[in-house]
Order: sequence, then structure tokens, then C-alpha cells
Amino acid sequence: MTAKLIKGTEIREEILEEITAEVAEIKEKHGVIPGLVTILVGESPASISYVTLKIKTAHRVGFKEVQDSQSVDIPEDDLLALIDKYNNDDSINGILVQLPLPKHINEKKILNAIDPDKDVDGFHPVNVGRLMIGGDEVKFPPCTPAGIQEMIVRAGVETKGAEVVVVGRSNIVGKPIANMMLQKGVGANSTVTVVHTGTRDLAAHCKRADILIVAAGVPDLVKPEWIKPGACVIDVGVNRVGEKPSVKNPGKMVAVLKGDVDFDAAKEIAGSITPVPGGVGPMTITMLMKNTLKSLKFKLGI
Ligand code: NAD
Repeated sequence: MTAKLIKGTEIREEILEEITAEVAEIKEKHGVIPGLVTILVGESPASISYVTLKIKTAHRVGFKEVQDSQSVDIPEDDLLALIDKYNNDDSINGILVQLPLPKHINEKKILNAIDPDKDVDGFHPVNVGRLMIGGDEVKFPPCTPAGIQEMIVRAGVETKGAEVVVVGRSNIVGKPIANMMLQKGVGANSTVTVVHTGTRDLAAHCKRADILIVAAGVPDLVKPEWIKPGACVIDVGVNRVGEKPSVKNPGKMVAVLKGDVDFDAAKEIAGSITPVPGGVGPMTITMLMKNTLKSLKFKLGI
């Protein structure tokens, strides 16, 4: 293996320790801790396991965590009233609505009802606009792109003037990370190209990338010959390609996950690369904690 492995699992530990220390310091000086509410509608096992992980992480860093579970048939107006309650709750700095919501609820309406200053997911149009403007305007960068940028910075990869190619143009990964990498400032100032399903020659663009960020959701889409020798490759893709017996829980099956990049071949060409799993994945919840802490700091003016 020639590439340096950028491990999200290790970077997560570093950041969570930094957050824990900062929470303790704020508690000591200001007598308050960050508050995060997680609203879960229904009982989808995937949502429950994701929310459980968020709660566990919030407790670990010393946050107040409120879990608000609602039945799958909650009327839309009741959910809006709940959000209004938390918008006006001084002890809550971050509001998180676990997606997807049941079909009778308009997701957009719900997300747009969250106070932008408590929108720690960074999906509210006000925060999308702030991200577009950049600099001091940015309050809550969306968590997965923020995690990607943090990994690039902590891996010591030069971004200033770098050719960054982003594969994918989704609102949660592709578009925001492209926007973040082109802003002035640390971990950015890059020349950015976004490629997608309408792109004529995907390979030609990828071959130019000093930093290749792939978020397409297509296993092994990026071939090793598309990677510039020495490039930094960030593989955001998480694709279930099968099942295997669990080592931790004998008798149970677990998903076999694969990224969007042919990792085994790519690691012989890239300068640094993220694995799947254990790469970008662990960063998302970590950055959610960081955004919640930021929200309290904005409120305290520190
Ligand atoms: P999406 O389906 O919303 O968007 C995928 C994008 O990739 C689209 O813009 C599409 O144009 C582009 N694309 C798809 N196939 C392509 C192809 N053959 N050639 C060129 N472009 C192509 O997906 P998303 O929500 O952005 O997620 C992308 C992947 O990242 C998924 O595997 C998802 O599971 C993963 N993901 C991981 C995390 C995490 O690790 N925390 C977070 C979000 C998404």
C-alpha cells in the first residue's frame, strides 16, 4: 500500500475529545452546556440506530440530550408545534429531525420551520445561503461536507490552488462541499469542478484532480486509472453490496459495505485515501456535535 490512510475513526476521537474539553470549560465559566434535541417519528430500525448513535455521542461529549420520539401518525401540525416549542426553548441549541419522515408529512415544510440559528444539520435555506456567501456568514456547514473538509485539513493536504473534482451534485454532499472548497480560507481556496450524470467525460475530469471527492452512490464507479498519482481521494459512497456473518454478534448478519472508489487498486496510486467503512462515515455525527457546540457559542457570543 502506498497511500496514507485517512481514518475517520481516529479523527473522530480527536475532535470529540476537543469538544468534550470545550464543553467542560464553558460549563465552568458560563454555567451552561449545549442542548440537542433529536426528533424521531416512527420506528424505522435504520432511523432508530442512527438516532441512538447521535444520543450516545451527545452524552459522551457532555451535552444535554433530549430524545423526542413521536408516533408514525403524528399530524403535520403537531410536528410543527413541537418544533416551535424547541425553537423557543432556551436550553436547546440544536434541533435535529431524523429523516425520512412519513409520507403524510411535508419534509421541506418541517425542515424550514426549524429556527436557522438552531439548524445544526445546516439544511435550512438560510444556512444554505450563508454557506454560499462564505466567510463569517457561515454558521452551520452541513455535517458530511464539514467532515470531509476537516479530514482533508487534518491529513495535511494542501488545498490552496488545488484542483478539486467533486463527483455528485446532491444538496447534502456534492453541492455544499464544492461550494466550501472554493471559498477563501483554510482548507479551501481550491479550483473546483463538479461532475455528475450529465458530464460527458467523467474520467478526464477525475484524472486532473489533486483532491478527488466522490459522492455518487455507485460501487467502484471511480477506476484506478482515473486517479492522478499522489492525489487525495475522499470516498463518501456507502453502498451495501452483500451480507456477512457478524464477528461481534455471532449468529447475526451484517452488511458488507463498499465505497464509490475501487479502494484496493486506488490505494496503490493515491497519495492519501479514505477507507469505507471507517472513513467519512464517522465524521458526520462528529460534526453535528461540533455544530451544536458552535450554536451555544454563538448565543454566548464567545
Ligand atoms: P444522491 O443520490 O443524492 O446523489 C448522487 C449524485 O451522484 C447525483 O448528483 C448524481 O448526478 C451523481 N451520480 C450518480 N451516478 C453517477 C455516475 N454514474 N456518474 C456521474 N455522477 C453520478 O446521493 P448522496 O446523498 O449525495 O450520497 C452519495 C453517496 O454518499 C451515497 O452512497 C451515500 O450513502 C453516501 N453518503 C455518505 C454519508 C456519510 O458517510 N456520512 C453521508 C451522505 C451520503
